[in-house]
Parts: sequence; C-alpha cells; structure tokens
Amino acid sequence: MPKEHGDKCDGVIIFDKSPALIWVNANRSRSTMIYTVLHEYAHAILEDRHRDWKSLEHSDPWYRVLGIVERRYFDGGEKESRAYRVR
Ligand SMILES: [Zn+2]
Repeated sequence: MPKEHGDKCDGVIIFDKSPALIWVNANRSRSTMIYTVLHEYAHAILEDRHRDWKSLEHSDPWYRVLGIVERRYFDGGEKESRAYRVR
C-alpha cells in the first residue's frame, strides 16, 4: 500500500497513469482483499465511462456498477474461472 494510505485502508485505486493501479492491503482476509478489488474495479469502470471518477465516488451510479461487478464475480476455482468471461 502507498504510505499515505497506511494500514487503515483496505485498498486504493490510483489513476495517475494508464492503466489505473489498484492496491490491496495484504494484511486483510482473502474475502476482504477480493471485495476490495471489486470495489476499486467499479471506480475504474466509472472512470473509463465518464473520465470523472472523483465526482462519482461512492455515488448512486457507482453503487449500480458495483452491484453489476459483484453479480459477475465468480469464485469457483481456477478451472471454472478460466471459463468465465466478462462481457
Ligand atoms: Zn471507493
């Protein structure tokens, strides 16, 4: 994790370069780390669509995207994951 975020933060997405960089706190449970990636990925999707992720941070449109990302996430093991495709 970047120092400025410390250990209190589960993760962060940094948009200073393309593609965005997602950091996940390694001192968290596996389920928290997975959820953090999904959370940050929702920010990345909104940035890709609107180029204005900051004003949409944790907004209603962001929650709608996060809900879609959560429903599409599948944790069924490596074999099943390879067959899974994001559309
Ligand atoms: Zn967030």
